[in-house]
Amino acid sequence: MHELSIAYSLVQNASEAAQQAGARKVNKVFLRLGKLSGVVKEALLFGYDIATKGTPLEGSELVIQALPVVIYCASPQCQQEFAISGLQGFRCPKCNQPSNQIRQGRELEIEKLEIEVD
Ligand SMILES: [Zn+2]
Repeated sequence: MHELSIAYSLVQNASEAAQQAGARKVNKVFLRLGKLSGVVKEALLFGYDIATKGTPLEGSELVIQALPVVIYCASPQCQQEFAISGLQGFRCPKCNQPSNQIRQGRELEIEKLEIEVD
């Protein structure tokens, strides 16, 4: 399961950040997850519970913010960003031009931690 190894590296990064912040315990981890990241949210949550065992993150909650795909349409009449719902064919919802400029959707990053300090 690919999400389990992602969960382990996520927990490792969060543990290091928490340690640097002098945290005794981590309560919540806020994650930004793009639709194109290829990560299944439910599988990641499951992997997270396993990966946090025995770490300062044990028992903490993983809060996932799902980010839609945003493309940029470069056609003269648009020249703006659009959030699109489908994952097939990155076309402008307004003028139907294909776009290869993906501005958002690949994120897999920790936004912030909610920690307890002594
Ligand atoms: Zn357009």
